[in-house]
Amino acid sequence: MPMGTKFVLTCRDVTEHATDYMENALPLRTRLAMRLHLFICRMCRTYMDQLRRTAALLRGHRLAAPPPEVEARIVAAGRLASRQHKENE
Ligand SMILES: [Zn+2]
Repeated sequence: MPMGTKFVLTCRDVTEHATDYMENALPLRTRLAMRLHLFICRMCRTYMDQLRRTAALLRGHRLAAPPPEVEARIVAAGRLASRQHKENE
């Protein structure tokens, strides 16, 4: 289990596991590592916050697929986040 043994996550790891984290689909160790990273990294907190808000919005509307403008916003937010992360490295 290569992923479960890693305890220090990079911003890239966080964005990769973000959806699984929200759905409680991660192993406990990875979950804890995510929490630790989110605690120390404001940018990833903002990223998760946006993701969570979008997910809540979609759940509230009971949509099978996000409307195009929401999808565009998710993509834009993801791009912005990864760009900021790169600048931060
Ligand atoms: Zn981060």
